[in-house]
Amino acid sequence: MASTEVFPLEISERDILNEANECPVDRPVETQPLSQEHAFAFWQKDIPQPYWDLTGAEIIERIAEARRKLGSRAIVLGHHYQREDIIQFADLRGDSFKLAQWASQQEQAEYIVFCGVHFMAEAADILSKPHQKVILPNMSAGCSMADMADPDDVYAAWDELQAAGLTGIIPVTYMNSAASLKAFCGKNGGIVCTSSNARKVLEWAFEHGRQVLFFPDQHLGRNTALKLGIPLEEMAVWDYTLPFGSLGGSTAEQLERSRVILWKGHCSVHNRFSVAQVEAARKRYPDVTVLVHPECRMEVVQAADLDGSTEFISKTIAEASAGSKWAVGTEINLVSRLARENPDKLVFCLDPVVCPCSTMYRIHPAYLCWALESLAEGRVVNHLVVEEETARWAKIALERMLAVR
Ligand code: SF4
Repeated sequence: MASTEVFPLEISERDILNEANECPVDRPVETQPLSQEHAFAFWQKDIPQPYWDLTGAEIIERIAEARRKLGSRAIVLGHHYQREDIIQFADLRGDSFKLAQWASQQEQAEYIVFCGVHFMAEAADILSKPHQKVILPNMSAGCSMADMADPDDVYAAWDELQAAGLTGIIPVTYMNSAASLKAFCGKNGGIVCTSSNARKVLEWAFEHGRQVLFFPDQHLGRNTALKLGIPLEEMAVWDYTLPFGSLGGSTAEQLERSRVILWKGHCSVHNRFSVAQVEAARKRYPDVTVLVHPECRMEVVQAADLDGSTEFISKTIAEASAGSKWAVGTEINLVSRLARENPDKLVFCLDPVVCPCSTMYRIHPAYLCWALESLAEGRVVNHLVVEEETARWAKIALERMLAVR
C-alpha cells in the first residue's frame, strides 16, 4: 500500500531546485504534518500513508506510547544537527562518534534508533554488539559531503596515485564517509578521523607514511594540515570530477611534493560561511567571539577566533562567562539550541539566513513514530546493516583512531 501511494502535492521544478534552500528556522517550532513538509516528495516514500497527516500532538502521543511498550529495548539517538522536534525524543544527543560509542555500551538496547544521517547509522552498526539492530528512521537521510566521495572514485584515485609511483600514502577518511571507505582505510593502513581528533590522527598518519590522502572534506583536511605547520604549497587538491588519468588535476610532480592530497569535497552547510559574515559580526559586536566548525573554508577559520567540533562548540559556549557574545559558524539547529540553553549569553549564527542541513532534516518525527511503532509491533523497518567484511575492515580503521592519543 504505502510504497505505491502517489504523493498528492504538486511539486514544481523550482521546488526541486530549492530543496536545499528550504529554511524552516523561521517557521513555528511545532511539528508540521509530514504531508505539509514541502520537500517530502523527494524523501523515502514507503512510510505508510496514515503517517502522512498526523499532527504534532498525535505524533508525540504515539511516540510516547511506542517507547513505553519498548522500554529499555530501544534507545533513540539525536545528532546535534537534528531539528528540535526530534531532539525532544533523544536519549542522548551528540556528534556521530559519541552517539555510536554510547549506543554500543547500552547492552540492554536491542534497537538503536539513530536520528542522524546514513553514514552515522553505518558507524553505529559497525560499533554495535551482535544482538543490536540499528534503525535509520528515513533511509533517504544522507550527507552531501559523504556523497562527494563515491567509493569507486576513491579506489580509482588510489590506483592512479600508485601507478604514478606515489607509495607510502596513508588514506585518512573523515567520519562523514561511507562504511566502504572506512573499510578501504582499514585495508590500506589508513585510519578514520573526526573533527575532534583530526590533528592527532594526521600526526599518527605522518608517523606511518610520507603522504596523506584525506577525504572527503578538503576544508577539514586543509585546516588541520595548516595547524600542523604544513604550508599550502605542500597540499594538492584531488578533483574527483576529472576523468580517470587526469591525476585529479595535478601533475605527478605536484603530487609527489605534496604532503597532503585533499579530496575536493565539502559540506554544503559549512561552505556557506564567509569572511564578510565574520567581519559583519565583529562590526556589530566588537567584543564578539567568532567560533566556527573546521568544515568551514580556510579563510573563514583563519578569520575566526576559535574553531572546533560540535562537541567543542557546545562545551565552549556552555562554559563561557555570562554576558559573553558568540557568533557561531555551524548548522542552525545547533546554534539555535545553544542560544536557548545559554540565555545569559548572546549566541547567534554567523549567517543570518543559513539553512539547516537538508538531509538531516529528512528525519521528520512521523518517520520516528513509524519506526518505533513498527518495532513495538515486532516489525523491524529501515534496519541498516553494513556487510560483514566491510564492517570488519572499517572497524579496524576506527580502532586505529581510538588508539590515537
Ligand atoms: S552538515 Fe554537512 S557534513 Fe553534516 S550531514 Fe549535513 S551535509 Fe553532511
